Amino acid sequence: MSTDIPQAVVPRVIPRPEHTISRRQISSGALKVLYRLSHAGYLAYLVGGGVRDLLLGKTPKDFDVVTNARPREIRRLFRNSRIIGRRFRLVHVMFQDGIVEVATFRASPEPPEAPDGWEENGDEDELAPAAFEDAGPAPNGEEPVFGTPAEDALRRDFTVNALFYNISDFSIIDYVGGIEDLHNGLLRVIGEPQTRFHEDPVRMLRALEYMVRLGFELTPGIEEAIEANRREILTAAPARLAYELVETLRSGVSVGICEAWRRFGFLDLIFPEAAHAGRALGSLLGVIDRWTNQDRKVPTSVLLGTAFLPAYAHILGQAVAAGGKINNPALLDAIAELVNPSVLRLHISHHDLFLIRQGLFTLSKLRKAPERGRQVQRLVRQEYFPVAWAFDCLAVEAGLLPAAPHAAWRRALERFEEGATDQDGGRPHTPRPSRRRRPGRRRRT
Ligand code: ATP
Ligand code: MG
Repeated sequence: MSTDIPQAVVPRVIPRPEHTISRRQISSGALKVLYRLSHAGYLAYLVGGGVRDLLLGKTPKDFDVVTNARPREIRRLFRNSRIIGRRFRLVHVMFQDGIVEVATFRASPEPPEAPDGWEENGDEDELAPAAFEDAGPAPNGEEPVFGTPAEDALRRDFTVNALFYNISDFSIIDYVGGIEDLHNGLLRVIGEPQTRFHEDPVRMLRALEYMVRLGFELTPGIEEAIEANRREILTAAPARLAYELVETLRSGVSVGICEAWRRFGFLDLIFPEAAHAGRALGSLLGVIDRWTNQDRKVPTSVLLGTAFLPAYAHILGQAVAAGGKINNPALLDAIAELVNPSVLRLHISHHDLFLIRQGLFTLSKLRKAPERGRQVQRLVRQEYFPVAWAFDCLAVEAGLLPAAPHAAWRRALERFEEGATDQDGGRPHTPRPSRRRRPGRRRRT
């Protein structure tokens, strides 16, 4: 590791009066977890984005807890919990307002596993709590590598992500100079960037994500290390890359992150569909960001399907321009040709693939004004209709498709909604939301 990071085992401790984090800003679930661990005699720290974002005056996405209690001991303290993970077992404590992830201090700098629900083969059942009641060796025979708080801080990716908030005295513990970097708006790799990026290439994407999301500057060495290690991103597990991609698309700043990916040469490597979308990509992602920032939940199928819209709008434009009836089998073939090569690389689930294909196909129906009320009724009741409608809204708002039939469909849908409300005695009828197959998308760290 480089010498420019203070690695003294004695950390800088910032007492409560000298920082801005208040318990009121921490979710009740995370507080319960911290207090129960602490009252049971363990160290209990908040860590990661929760601490970083609170110090920056932002709302954290989630709260992660780290402790010296072992997974089995944590599990014993929380009935509403389960142990997950293959190599590194973590405990998920379930609350009504979300999951609090509790990890035991670790020494290993190894990359995290694919997040929950994004395993290579998606075999959630293997992760059933009963299989891990005993904190013995992991299923692959490896001993979990637990460590000290200092080791745990040093194995993290960036200094601003390695700050601990200590529930026992409300202080912040900083082993890596993160507080100073945070105040100066600097993103600094813990250790030597080349080594850390080689160890886990996904950290390169994370660096760009934080640069954009936090508006931080990359410290010297990061750009060069990305330059040298860029292609290694292709060695990362597809599940982790797909997760990064989807998280980026739903970050609310996807335009900025994808632009950074393009600038640093990642877009072609990990999302060539989007790289080929050209200028239209920025407009489409701009709409997605606007929706996300208005708290509209955009399903994974829509996020991933967006990359196909420019090419598909072109195909559709040609089909419509040819006049007469659209040739459905030919359109389905064109969709398969467009989407199929991406399925494995983007880790698209069977269900999302179905939604994307049907959504794109149904877009062809939405390109002509609705004929009869029955047609509207039939389509709206399909599981994939919200996806098709989102594609249509996206393509129209981004200027890829003309607005005319869209406006007619919007009116027809409003009429349908009103009709359904009358029939249902006041119960508003909305298209069924798409089913979520992948539960609790969270990174494992
Ligand atoms: P977000 O706001 O996106 O949740 P976060 O910093 O909390 O940001 P997570 O992916 O939730 O990011 O991870 C939690 C913490 O785990 C990080 O802050 C960091 O300390 C550590 N971490 C995550 N991924 C890695 C990695 N690839 N290498 C090293 N440490 C990591
Ligand atoms: Mg987090």
